[in-house]
Amino acid sequence: MFTAAPKLAAPLERVPSLSPARLFAVKCGGCFEGIAPSEFIMRAQKSVYHLTCFCCCVCERQLQKGDEFVLKEGQLLCKSDYEKERELLSLVSPNKKTAPAPESI
Ligand SMILES: [Zn+2]
Ligand SMILES: [Zn+2]
Repeated sequence: MFTAAPKLAAPLERVPSLSPARLFAVKCGGCFEGIAPSEFIMRAQKSVYHLTCFCCCVCERQLQKGDEFVLKEGQLLCKSDYEKERELLSLVSPNKKTAPAPESI
């Protein structure tokens, strides 16, 4: 059977910006896996996380809505670990007081 020339895949520019393909390209800030549109996510500033990946990098406690947290160099810290770290830092370098304040989800 004769077939016409194969269709070329559409160039990327033609993919509508809100297509599922683009939504799948959202990467979790914790595990760096793609996040499906149907999955629950948590947002912290410009990053999104799987619900299960949204946890403190020190005590590994999963952070809940309403918890205070700090996003520091891409790592999540719960408020108490952040304050512990800040105390340590202030002992090491008391002049550096530019650390961000905790925020709530
Ligand atoms: Zn994840
Ligand atoms: Zn913690």
